[in-house]
Order: sequence, then C-alpha cells, then structure tokens
Amino acid sequence: MNITEIQVDGYEKVAVCKDQDSGLHAIIAVHDTTLGPALGGMRMLDYASEEEAMTDVLRLSRGMTYKSAVADTGLGGGKSVIIGDPKKLKSEALFLAMGRFVESFGGKYITAEDMNIGIPDLETVGRETKYVTGLSRESGSSGNPSPYTAHGCLVGVLATAEAAFGSADITGKHVVVQGVGAVGGALAILLKEQGAKVTICDINAKRVAELAAEHGFDVVEEDEHLDVECDIYAPCARGAGVNDETIPRLKCKVIAGCANNVLAEERHGQVLREKGILYAPDYVINAGGIINVSVEVSEGGYNETEAMRRINNISEALRQVYAISSEENIPTAEAADKLAERRLAAGKVH
Ligand code: NAD
Repeated sequence: MNITEIQVDGYEKVAVCKDQDSGLHAIIAVHDTTLGPALGGMRMLDYASEEEAMTDVLRLSRGMTYKSAVADTGLGGGKSVIIGDPKKLKSEALFLAMGRFVESFGGKYITAEDMNIGIPDLETVGRETKYVTGLSRESGSSGNPSPYTAHGCLVGVLATAEAAFGSADITGKHVVVQGVGAVGGALAILLKEQGAKVTICDINAKRVAELAAEHGFDVVEEDEHLDVECDIYAPCARGAGVNDETIPRLKCKVIAGCANNVLAEERHGQVLREKGILYAPDYVINAGGIINVSVEVSEGGYNETEAMRRINNISEALRQVYAISSEENIPTAEAADKLAERRLAAGKVH
C-alpha cells in the first residue's frame, strides 16, 4: 500500500492511497481539527480523474468543518473518496485496504456513510480501524441518520417560521415538500403533525401515491411545484434547486428543507434576500444526522436522548444565523459561514 501525503494550503492533512493488490485508489482530506477530530463520510464515485476526486474531497471536507462548527458537534471537518465504479470495484479487499488507510490517520479522521457506501462496506472498513461511525444500532452505533435529519429539519422549519412570521406555530401554514424520500417523507409527516397543510411532490409517483393515501397530503406534479402559492418551501430532493430559472417562480416566504447545496450559486442567497424570502442555510438545517453521529464519538458513547437534545439546538444555531444576517445585512448563507468562522477562531484561541 502506497500512501502519499500532499501539502494543500489551508488543509491539515491530505493523503492519496494506492493499493495494487486490492485496486484501492482513494483520498482522505482532513480540513480542520480545531474543534475536534475530523468526521465526514466516505463516498465512492467513478471520478474522471484523481484531480476531479481531489477537488470534490477538498470542497466536501471544508464544508464538514463549517457544518460541524455551527452544529456544535465538537468535531472538525474531513472527508474521504474512493475513486472507481462502485458497481464494478467494490470488494472485501478494497474496504479492508480503505480501513488501513483510515487507520493511518490515527483518529484524526473518522469515517461514516456517504454516497454509494453502505453499512456492510463500513463494517468491513471497521475490521481494520475503530474510527468508523454510523454502523447499525444493534452494534451500539447511531444507526440510520435520516429520521434525525428529518427531526432537525422540523426544528429548523419552526425556528425559521418564528423569524419570518413572528411565531413558531405553523398550524395552517402551507408547506410544499419537494422530494419525499428518507428525509423529506419523514419531514412531511412531522409537519402535518404540527398542523401544517402539506403538499408533496416527487419523481417517484408510487411513493407519492402511498404517502398521500396514508397521510392525506395534497399532491402536485414535480414540474408544477414551484408555482404553488405557499408559506414554506422545503427542498428535500437534489441540490441546486434554487437558481436563475426557479427563483422568479418561487411563491414562498421561507425556504427550509434538508437538501444539500440548495443554492446553485452563492449569489442566489442575495437574490432571495432581495425578494424577501428567508432561506435556512442547508448545512445548518440538515445537520441532524451528523449531530446524531457525533454523539457516538462523545464520552459515554451513543445515547438517543442526548442526540435529540443536541439536535434541538439547531433552532438556536439558526437564530444566531438570522441575527448575524440582519445585523450585518448579509445573506443567511454568508451569515452561517461567519458563525462557523467565529467558532473556529474562538477554538483556536483556547
Ligand atoms: P432519498 O434518495 O431517500 O430521497 C430523495 C427523494 O427525492 C427521492 O424520493 C427521489 O425520488 C426524489 N427526487 C429526486 N429528484 C427529484 C426531483 N427533481 N423532484 C422531486 N423529487 C425528486 O434521499 P434523502 O436521504 O432523503 O436525502 C434528500 C436530500 O437531503 C439530499 O439532498 C441529501 O444530500 C440531503 N441530506 C440527507 C441527509 C440524511 O440524513 N439522509 C442528511 C443531510 C442532507
């Protein structure tokens, strides 16, 4: 196994691993451990080149530093990528080699699930390193993060409603949820329980029909959901949904959903602000899953009551974000980054 460390400005440790026997070609990037060990998922993608994989892992690991700082997980930011087609290259030997690569960071990097990586893969990784989180609940780990992400998202919707409408009571408020998968589906149910009128859409017609029949949601076609007059729009499908084409169609006062990278470009945060739409920054409102996982690496191990207590703090994080945004007259996404940078600066002083 050949591990080469690469110096990257602003990153604590970046290394590339090539293992001829198993075919592993992977990168681990630790962006910042000021607030704790760097936790971030492992993804496997058929990147066109190592350069493309490097760009992705650097961007994602930096994002994890910011997400964890605002979520107050006591963790830093890192990420890992395995280069190759998951359908062709996955093997026991590959994940054992990846385990040894993770172990070579000596606990500075802690891994978890991400794109194309499942619990069985992580279990194999875990045979070579203890720095693995997000395994099954039966094994004492924190389990599936989605219900916790959904709960955190609900907390965030309520905090954002309070900031936008003057009350966290969403009874009678109309919410459009785009994408009712693992997180969006659970969120839609939680919103309905809070008394909201919920309209759902998804490209998976079967899932929509089942959920609507069971929970009495209204349904809209995916390509018409932006035209629905509503109070809150909850994007819970893919990223970049808020862009130059969609913004003129938006008929909501709040955007608060679980999707990652909601804004196609940073400047769209300012456009939303000018339109009077309050945007709950994605990495702040969707942090429930990482907060849940972070409890695993805290003293005493995983404990659901503690996880829920910490997830409920998403409302306080958002209040601080909205306060910074108003005081400094900046978009909320920029305010979230400022909050993260303040916490990192305070951490560096101690
Ligand atoms: P998922 O795959 O279970 O659900 C996504 C749903 O969106 C699916 O039902 C899919 O059919 C639907 N969809 C895809 N494209 C669509 C479109 N154009 N219009 C409408 N629906 C569409 O994924 P998930 O785990 O629920 O995650 C949803 C989003 O939340 C993703 O952006 C993910 O990165 C983000 N997120 C998830 C978690 C988590 O804990 N699962 C944590 C943080 C962020």
